[in-house]
Amino acid sequence: MEEGSTKWNFRGNEELNPEFSFSIKGVLNKLMKNLNETDHRPIIPLGRADPSASPCFRTTPIAEDAVIDAVRSGKFNSYAPNVGILPTRRSIAEYLSHDLPYKLSPDDVYLTAGGKQAIEVILTVLARPGANILLPRPGYPRYEARAALSHLEVRHFDLLPKKGWEVDLDGVGALADDKTVAMVIVNPGNPCGNVFTYEHLQKVAETARKLGILVIADEVYGHLAFGSTPFVPMAVFGSTVPILTLGSISKRWFVPGWRLGWIVTSDPGGFLKKYGIVECIKDYFNITSGPVTFTQGAFPQILARTSDDFFLKTINVLREAADICYDRLEEIPCITCPHKPEGAMFLLAKLNLSLLEGINDDMEFCLKLAKEESVIILPGIAVGLKNWVRITFAIEPSSLEDGLGRIKEFYLRNAKKN
Ligand SMILES: *Cc1c(COP(=O)(O)O)cnc(C)c1O
Repeated sequence: MEEGSTKWNFRGNEELNPEFSFSIKGVLNKLMKNLNETDHRPIIPLGRADPSASPCFRTTPIAEDAVIDAVRSGKFNSYAPNVGILPTRRSIAEYLSHDLPYKLSPDDVYLTAGGKQAIEVILTVLARPGANILLPRPGYPRYEARAALSHLEVRHFDLLPKKGWEVDLDGVGALADDKTVAMVIVNPGNPCGNVFTYEHLQKVAETARKLGILVIADEVYGHLAFGSTPFVPMAVFGSTVPILTLGSISKRWFVPGWRLGWIVTSDPGGFLKKYGIVECIKDYFNITSGPVTFTQGAFPQILARTSDDFFLKTINVLREAADICYDRLEEIPCITCPHKPEGAMFLLAKLNLSLLEGINDDMEFCLKLAKEESVIILPGIAVGLKNWVRITFAIEPSSLEDGLGRIKEFYLRNAKKN
């Protein structure tokens, strides 16, 4: 068909363009395009958080069987209620209530297609005209991307590397005004691999209360803590400040493709209901689709039957991998990690580019590393910190050793000669 004199009115929405909203996938795709096809060594993917391909992070057969049983039962073929099926919401309420000083009800739980849809729902609900939200820097860029699409203004507070990536609470106070609706914390942390202490979370809650804002607690890495700081759910402070907790099966069970997550309102004071947040969340679920029904149907079995051995084994592998990563980096002068990871799957480290020849920033570093060594790591710019890098250690320890060895070779080859 010729275009002729027709004037087509449609255009792509440029707000979806990765040039406008940084996405981890967009940056990683760029790195993958820069690989050297004549390098026959295996590619070492330390850029993204999907360990499911590594045999040591295969999920438990309990979970696989539960999904098979759910499919075969024939009970989960119809549409689910918009907010998710009741037995699953009930089992999640019970699962999370274990660690809380009060009981959650199934009505506090909304099932989502993974943590990412939970982010989409929450940010859409909060995006009233003129509102702003406080996000951590470094952070998880999906929040910025979703906020941009909803025209929700973003303001960044810092996480402080010298204080184990704690929130700069004075900075939070200085950023907020009467249009600020919420602050986000990610715990255990992506991209920093930190775990907040009880005392620090308490201060976060008190700060948010003083400012009259709610706390969005992204706990998709909940319980993946292997250092000396135990994981404490933010909802412990639900009586101080209203909390929206985000969770997911993706990370603790290593099945990100299954797309099951949740939003939980932890708010014994009832403020989320009083000020219309709960109603709005329900309204949003009326115009979106949640997770497939058979993973919903399987989840109560998965929660009830996954053994402590599975959790213990995977935590031990993560601890070992974090140790390898941290120790090997100590041997590479141009990369400094200020804080050994204690949770999640990442380590964030600073580049000292003055030690290298002809590499001017983190993106160049990662592009050149991909080309010369077939190792993929994430430039810090993708998570809000220029000239840092995020390395995922949730991979087979032998591949991790291989990858870090190659990064050391890369350093030696590109180091400034004096
Ligand atoms: C992976 C991740 C999510 C998204 O979880 P999915 O269940 O994979 O959608 C949300 N927040 C953070 C911080 C993550 O790392």
